[in-house]
Amino acid sequence: MLDPYIRQKILPEIGEEGQKTLGEKKVLIAGCGALGTNTAEALLRAGVKRLVLVDRDVVEIHNLHRVSLFLPADVGRPKALAAKERLQEINPDAEIDCYIAHLDPELAEELVPKVDLVADGLDNLETRYVLNDACVKYGKPWIYTAVLATYGLTMPIVPEKGPCLRCLFPHPPRPGTIPTCAEAGILGTVPKVLASLQATTAMAILLESPDLKPGELFYLDVWRRRSQIIQVQRAEDCPTCVRKDFQFLRESSRTATLCGDSIQILPRERTVLDLPSLARRLASLGRAEVKNGVLFVELEGLSFIVFSDGRAIIKGLADPNRAQALYDQFIAR
Ligand SMILES: [Zn+2]
Repeated sequence: MLDPYIRQKILPEIGEEGQKTLGEKKVLIAGCGALGTNTAEALLRAGVKRLVLVDRDVVEIHNLHRVSLFLPADVGRPKALAAKERLQEINPDAEIDCYIAHLDPELAEELVPKVDLVADGLDNLETRYVLNDACVKYGKPWIYTAVLATYGLTMPIVPEKGPCLRCLFPHPPRPGTIPTCAEAGILGTVPKVLASLQATTAMAILLESPDLKPGELFYLDVWRRRSQIIQVQRAEDCPTCVRKDFQFLRESSRTATLCGDSIQILPRERTVLDLPSLARRLASLGRAEVKNGVLFVELEGLSFIVFSDGRAIIKGLADPNRAQALYDQFIAR
């Protein structure tokens, strides 16, 4: 039988054994935007056939300039589901689980212990701190990768072998102090380049390559073709990787500002919403329609996207308190 990985196996960095190892490893893709889906596709094509996808949002038309996996017909569908279907077409033998959910501490503690590595496809630092705590707690390597405008950053984090995210950024920034892709923009090619770097680093970690340098932060401005490498040191008193105080797994906020002018609200407790009956209830107040298992509502000049797990994303809003009030008023108390 023809071997799809023959060109990769002849590389001394991979080899016959390495290829077999890649096929046995399981990788969690945290976030299915441009970074996450491009990383997932690169890993899958490289032979990493066991993937877990997590994403809380739906595909929007302005995602398409940077996400190869999504087509115009996917607009309005949950990203994790659309990504799973396309990846499954690329490799029908792949074992792909998908979660249309917010990666909160509970879900992070459920999923991280079951995988060999976590790749970053997130659009916010809050969730990265949760992920960092979970990965250090369970001794799982992860790769911090972020993109903005024309540049990106990536750093492999291997617990006990190098620094963690909190060694690099000890304190979470105050909300609103870091520009988002919605404010600063994003060049479509940037997440693809950074995702390729991330997927390559993922393979090096999975194969325990001697070439891997934990804590090596790589900065790349794709437009200006400028790069920089900084070796991050482990902080002597890091709350996460030295003191093992996993505060982000204990604290969780019910509201989160997403990339852009959107706010996500979580239900008070785990729940299952009956979306068709909620749609009927809201139809007298505005437009409400269930499509692809997701409820879309236009109300008071705002767009609500409501998921069956009780989460809602309100677009066109920057005030978390107002978002919470609208959620309590219209969606669920
Ligand atoms: Zn640390």
